[in-house]
This record gives sequence, C-alpha cells and structure tokens, in this order.
Amino acid sequence: MELIDSHTHWGPSVSMGTEVTTQEILKQAEQSSVSRIVIFPFPSMALADENINVRLLKEANRIKKFIPYYYIPETMEPIPKEKGFYGGKWHWMRGVQDSSSNYEALKDPKLEEFIEASEKIDLPIVFEEELAFTEAFARKTKSLKIIIPHLGMLGGNPIDFLRSFKSSENVYFDTALAGPDTVMKFIKEIGHERILFGSDIPFGTMKWELEKVLSLPIGDDKKESILSKNLERLIGLNQIV
Ligand SMILES: [Zn+2]
Repeated sequence: MELIDSHTHWGPSVSMGTEVTTQEILKQAEQSSVSRIVIFPFPSMALADENINVRLLKEANRIKKFIPYYYIPETMEPIPKEKGFYGGKWHWMRGVQDSSSNYEALKDPKLEEFIEASEKIDLPIVFEEELAFTEAFARKTKSLKIIIPHLGMLGGNPIDFLRSFKSSENVYFDTALAGPDTVMKFIKEIGHERILFGSDIPFGTMKWELEKVLSLPIGDDKKESILSKNLERLIGLNQIV
C-alpha cells in the first residue's frame, strides 16, 4: 500500500525561530515507509518573504518524493500550476494566524477572480479559517476542492465543520492531530473518500499520525484511500513520472 503524507511544513519558521529540514522530513518518511510527502511553507515565513514558494519548489525539484504546494499570498494570487505546484495553502488570509479570520477578505473583489481562476486550475487548497469564514468562502464555489486541516480543529469544533460540509462533495478533511474517535465519526458520516492522511510535521510526527490511521477499525481498502488514493485522485498524481 502506498503511503502519502498530505500535510507537512518545510523550511524555516520566522515565528518559531526553527527550521524543518529536508533531512528531517525524509528521515521520518523512511521510518514510516511514506513514499511521497506534500510540503508547504510556514505561514510566518511566507508572509515575511514570498520567495519561499520559489525555494520550496526548487527543493521539490531536487527531492522527487516532495509534492510542492503554493502558499497563497495576501494578494490572493492563484496557484501557478505551470511552475509545478500540485496544490495550495490558504491560511487565515489577512487575519490573525490560528486565531481569528479577517472577514474583510471576503469582500475583496480579488476573491471572485481568485476563485474563478482556482476552479479552472483545479488543484486542491488546504484551507484554514474559522468555520463561518470557511462556510462563506465555500458558498462561493461548487467545484473548487477545499481540504480542511485537522478536521477543522483550529477553526472551531470539528463536529460543526462536519455538519456544515457533510454534503459538500468538494470539501475534504485531513486527519492531522485529530483524535481517532473524531476521525471515525467523520468516516461514518461522509465516507472515507474525502478524508486524507496528514502528519502536520513539525506539530505532529509521521509515525504517530500514521499509526493512528492504521489502527482505525476500518478495512484495508478504506485505509488505502485515506493514506494515498484520495490525494492521488485530487492532484492527478498518477500523471507524475
Ligand atoms: Zn499545518
């Protein structure tokens, strides 16, 4: 069974004063037999220097196991797919990171352009905001694929996220740092096709997060979907050589 980690942070973090190195991620991947890893920049680094997107892309070109995601800047530029990105990271746009959304961003005329362009680009976006912001954003699109990290844990109560997006086929969730009981609740309500395995390195470890998914009381076929197939489908990974 192929294993793909859909959520890790790579590179320096300005706010934490640390750095997640390529070696660290590859070491964890090797320990857990994870064959491919989604990487995106730390928010504090991306806000300080947008060039981190370019550096991250270069590293992904060097390390074939890496799947680079584009940090969407505060100017709301859509993912430059032609450069080789496979997804995007939307993080508390112009708000307070991990704490409060800025609802003014929803009124920016650039947002409509961003959504329209992103629908055409058709790559998933790991999207983290408060529940009410996420709902307002999601109402603007039926086809843009949104991945809510941690089952919504940082934006509110996961169960409220579940209720809100239960029938939104374009909304996905990742398992990073979420409790196994909550993950099971999601699988029972929305099935396994919209759930993705993620470790959230350095906030979680690949080994722990993987063991959590492997020990869920579900069949191997469902585990395989969560651990690789769902993400492969989302980003068209089979086309990568
Ligand atoms: Zn994260």
